[in-house]
Amino acid sequence: MLIPLTELLQEARRAGWATPAFNVANSDTVAAVMEVAQEARSPLILLARGPDIDLIGGTVQAAMRRFPRLPVVLHLDHGRAFPEAVRAIGHGFSSVMVDGSILPYAENLALTLRVVEIARAVGCSVEGEIGHVGAGSDHPSRQAHHLTDPEEATRFARASGVDCLAVAVGTAHGEYQHGPPQLDFLRLEAIARQVEVPLVLHGGSGTPPEQLHRAIVTGVAKINVATDVRRAFIAGFRQAAEGPGGDVDLNRCLKAARQAVTEAVRAWVELAGSANRF
Ligand SMILES: [Zn+2]
Repeated sequence: MLIPLTELLQEARRAGWATPAFNVANSDTVAAVMEVAQEARSPLILLARGPDIDLIGGTVQAAMRRFPRLPVVLHLDHGRAFPEAVRAIGHGFSSVMVDGSILPYAENLALTLRVVEIARAVGCSVEGEIGHVGAGSDHPSRQAHHLTDPEEATRFARASGVDCLAVAVGTAHGEYQHGPPQLDFLRLEAIARQVEVPLVLHGGSGTPPEQLHRAIVTGVAKINVATDVRRAFIAGFRQAAEGPGGDVDLNRCLKAARQAVTEAVRAWVELAGSANRF
């Protein structure tokens, strides 16, 4: 069952849990993530990037026939331009992120408003971003320049009408190359006090669990996970490929990769507290 993320995240924020959002790249990752979600009775958000819209759109629609009662949000991750959002909606996505976070405030707002307008017309939800979540390869002192300003976040959420808002409070995308992140909880608390819509944390992989728990009770209702899924898939595949006979048995390698993803996803469902929510 394909759903937008609006009510799902509102409910999560109210009750103090989060929905993990997994980046998927192919039918194997889609199947692994959906199997765990069904088994744990956890609602699910699947993230696809712009270049993968066609592939993932079709793959998820097909996979959902196996799990007709599983609540799934098919969400465009980091849509950078209006046509990308339109394309995702055309491919059956139930939610889109419009990421104008590197643009000046007024341009970010204008882009986000255009996407909200078209998404509303078809019942699709929208995530915006204010402040800018950088890369784990950047030094934290550099990322500090782009942390979300609570006042700006409040204005942006109200003016844009987004359903949820990604904020920069110390996490980053990819591997944390300068040690684990230290979230700015004073900032996150100030944002959560004023911003009414649920908050989104990007860069979940590698963030210490105790910080994630604190972020969730503070108001984060969606946590994006990409690196952990990729890392698990590649490690599982590699281990099987390097084992006896594995180098010629592609199915065996893919099965091992799926299994590794399954384990990573289970850990995230547990951490986010999203099991038994439907
Ligand atoms: Zn992200």
